[in-house]
Amino acid sequence: MPGSKTRNLITGGAGFVGSHLVDRLMESGDEVICLDNYFTGNKANIARWIGHPFFELIRHDVTEPIKLEVDRIWHLACPASPIHYQTNPVKTAKTSFLGTYNMLGLARRVKARLLLASTSEVYGDPQVHPQPESYRGCVNTIGIRACYDEGKRIAETLCFDYRRMHGSEIRVARIFNTYGPRMLPDDGRVVSNFIVQALRGEALTLYGDGSQTRSFCYVDDLVEGLIGLMNGDHVGPINLGNPTEFTIRKLAELVREQINPSLPLITKPLPADDPLQRQPVIDLAVEQLGWKPHVSLAQGLDSTIAYFRELLSA
Ligand code: NAD
Ligand code: UDP
Repeated sequence: MPGSKTRNLITGGAGFVGSHLVDRLMESGDEVICLDNYFTGNKANIARWIGHPFFELIRHDVTEPIKLEVDRIWHLACPASPIHYQTNPVKTAKTSFLGTYNMLGLARRVKARLLLASTSEVYGDPQVHPQPESYRGCVNTIGIRACYDEGKRIAETLCFDYRRMHGSEIRVARIFNTYGPRMLPDDGRVVSNFIVQALRGEALTLYGDGSQTRSFCYVDDLVEGLIGLMNGDHVGPINLGNPTEFTIRKLAELVREQINPSLPLITKPLPADDPLQRQPVIDLAVEQLGWKPHVSLAQGLDSTIAYFRELLSA
């Protein structure tokens, strides 16, 4: 019956995070339109829903406008791995700017609520540690990560200007490093790289001396946070991430222990502008959403390793 269900549009829905969100919303009985240009997404991620009466799949690039009737827009479309977003940095900037502009235009026309998947990269190489939402960041505007970092910064700006100018209903999540099943094996991000290298019996590649830090959130925890943010009254920006911080060397050691402790660690040059430390302050998410992550890195690595083991043996 028309109008009886929440109609969700998930841009980037065939990607890593997007496809887990698709699963979660489909399992709750909502309607889902998954929109993707398949740059880093994969139809296999959402294949189980194809043919379901409440599911639609649209091949579309968010840099072009689109007209749809929806209640909620989960705007995730954007490559997230440095090697992918640096492949065509101008396209990445267009995806963030024009994509968010187009989705805000759509949200305004149909009075939908829009959630932007922003990033901890808006903090750049942070001079404040750990990072609260009030920190304004330290981004090299002309560096190789700027297409992504500045793209997300302008996307946040657009959301808040639409809110001030048009009363648009927005939600902004600043997502910290998230990992789990369905990351691409050649994605280039550290968790998938280490697991795939270890499963292939190769050396694990530490960029720099491995003393830089990240805080890794399991994808199921993140999806719960996104849903809490979309459903609640708090606009954001709000940090969503796991506050347990690890050095990259420690991560390599953990992966190696779980797969093959005899593998060597080798070093490679640290990419330009690689942030030296990153850890979210999640007090706001705890207070406003009643959300905090529950999956430890050891548990999350277990299921991610199991996923890649099966994928590589297939
Ligand atoms: P991903 O690369 O797996 O997914 C991105 C999806 O967007 C892919 O399916 C891709 O094909 C699609 N896409 C890219 N450009 C598009 C375009 N122009 N039009 C339509 N579709 C397009 O990445 P992910 O890790 O799932 O990230 C999802 C979102 O979350 C991104 O916006 C990312 O910036 C944000 N985020 C992710 C992380 C993380 O650690 N995974 C951290 C911070 C922010
Ligand atoms: N990294 C690494 N080896 C790899 C891939 C990444 O040491 O094979 C490092 C990278 O230099 C960075 C950290 O791991 O310091 C996280 O990298 P990723 O690309 O996963 O995320 P981001 O830098 O965007 O947080």
